[in-house]
Amino acid sequence: MSDLLLTLAAHPGANKLLKKLGLPAPVALQRSTQAIPDSPLQEATAVIGGVTGSEALDIVRARLQELGARVCEDKQTSEAPPDIALFDATGCRNSEDLDALYRFFHPLMAQFPRHGRALLLAQTPEQADDPVTAACAKAVEGFTRSLGKELGKRGATANLIYLTPGQEDRLAGPLTFFCSPASAYVDGQAIRLSAAVEAPPQTTLAQPQQNKIALVTGASRGIGAATARQLAGEGATVVCLDIPSASRALTSFAAEINGVPMPMDITAPDAPQTLAQFFLEQYGGLDIIVHNAGITRDKTLAKMSEATWRNVLDVNFRAVVAINEALLNAKVLRNMGRIICLSSISGVAGNFGQTNYAASKAALIGYVTALAPQLAHQGITVNAVAPAFIETDMTAQMPLLMREAGRRLNSLSQGGQPEDVAALIAFLAAPDAYGVTGATIRVCGQALIGA
Ligand code: NAD
Repeated sequence: MSDLLLTLAAHPGANKLLKKLGLPAPVALQRSTQAIPDSPLQEATAVIGGVTGSEALDIVRARLQELGARVCEDKQTSEAPPDIALFDATGCRNSEDLDALYRFFHPLMAQFPRHGRALLLAQTPEQADDPVTAACAKAVEGFTRSLGKELGKRGATANLIYLTPGQEDRLAGPLTFFCSPASAYVDGQAIRLSAAVEAPPQTTLAQPQQNKIALVTGASRGIGAATARQLAGEGATVVCLDIPSASRALTSFAAEINGVPMPMDITAPDAPQTLAQFFLEQYGGLDIIVHNAGITRDKTLAKMSEATWRNVLDVNFRAVVAINEALLNAKVLRNMGRIICLSSISGVAGNFGQTNYAASKAALIGYVTALAPQLAHQGITVNAVAPAFIETDMTAQMPLLMREAGRRLNSLSQGGQPEDVAALIAFLAAPDAYGVTGATIRVCGQALIGA
């Protein structure tokens, strides 16, 4: 469904009028399709800086250069505003150290470029040695979230990576994602790097999923189709599952991406066993599972039938658990596998008329947190993504006013595209995201709801 404000804002005259009327004038985002796979930051300039004593800058500099960016230190003046501003605050030990945030970002703000990226690093507060160091780390989070709100008008984002000293080797994947166009709609997030999972062998950036087998549920349209397409583009063989009544769309879509159609209702009692057997027989295992199939059946609780309640929990939550159990018990999911569940901002914040949906999506957040440590020794990561308003058939059914509110109430003043969610899922599915597990990452343009 087209976004009229986004279309109008692209025309200079109409853009001025929107601003005069006090309406948002969203900036069309620059997405990953424009990137060169092996050097996604080619032609980008990055300015990096840090608090004295921060230890990640050398790794950051080397990685950005490897990705094609031209890197300058903050003391040097770069002739044009940098596309990426990266600040390492892992060395923040006292409140005076926080002033370095101001000194680094203040001169950049007047000319911060459209589609720019601000990325900050801080020490994980729970692992800080003393309360003031922990407080400083949280201060960086508050700073980042506010920065995101100021940069949103330019289609630029601000995110934070928490890490513990000694875990800098886990930065490469997250750094690539957050500095590149792939993270266009991931804004105002603070992710924690975990030491639980060991590093896998290196892969190429262009085809990180070569020789991998992936299952995407609900893949005939929307976020599922975008995810299947993205994983196939990265080299995976993708089994595309959807309900039998969607068979025709599913078959033609799967053919488009050289995938395998699998018409199946995930709530069918024999679905988990059938899937486990299929992957063992056809491929000897499975590497990536994206639990994307989901439904809404909105009603206020007073008016909701028990069947409607159960239906949503069956599809969105119980089927996910049953399928994972079958795949894990039969050792179908291989070591270094990836499990990604589609949660929702509704699961984070709740939503009127969605007690069933919010319960199912919040359940997935608790589930990935608890399952991740159990599978870490196998190199398997388990994460959730929580989209807010994404332009799909599901949200096209919303009443007009609710749809407009969903689109606008975020720092980027627009809805996300299925490709934005797919890019986040692909990042989590990639080998170099091994440092992220048990996490729920929002893809919401920094939505006000649940913030
Ligand atoms: P969509 O309705 O466009 O697609 C969902 C797909 O799942 C459909 O193809 C449907 O046929 C399939 N499906 C439903 N029940 C199934 C079942 N029992 N077995 C197999 N397949 C089944 O939805 P979307 O907007 O692309 O959303 C995808 C996921 O993202 C869902 O889990 C949804 O809850 C979540 N999500 C979406 C948004 C959004 O704004 N679109 C926001 C938050 C979360």
